[in-house]
Amino acid sequence: MDCLFCSIIKGDIPSTTVYEDDLIKAFADISPQAPVHIIIIPKMHIASANEINSEGAKYVAHIFEKIPEIAAAQGIAESGYRIINNCGKDGGQTVNHLHFHLLGGRDLGAKLV
Ligand code: 5GP
Ligand code: ZN
Repeated sequence: MDCLFCSIIKGDIPSTTVYEDDLIKAFADISPQAPVHIIIIPKMHIASANEINSEGAKYVAHIFEKIPEIAAAQGIAESGYRIINNCGKDGGQTVNHLHFHLLGGRDLGAKLV
């Protein structure tokens, strides 16, 4: 399967890892939109939020369990942050492997909701 983030998990494409365990990997976004911009992914290919099933939900739960630790390590736990998932065409998803953006380090400004 030709998936950019699966290639990053395998190490075929280099990334700057900030957290990793058996289930998930967190790495710096190649085009950061804030001083802290981390991508957090499950180490199982899930195409999008639309494809989360009961097995995938364990990975998603683990991602959210680890977000406080990752945010603290990035120095943004106190100042705050935003977690974003883009799903599908209207959501603006460009990489078809489920991922959460962790953004912080500045006032993130305008909100959609
Ligand atoms: P999406 O637009 O699908 O929500 O987010 C995809 C993200 O992946 C974008 O923020 C983009 O900058 C990032 N990205 C795309 N290609 C690479 C890459 O090769 N390495 C890293 N670290 N990030 C990437
Ligand atoms: Zn994948």
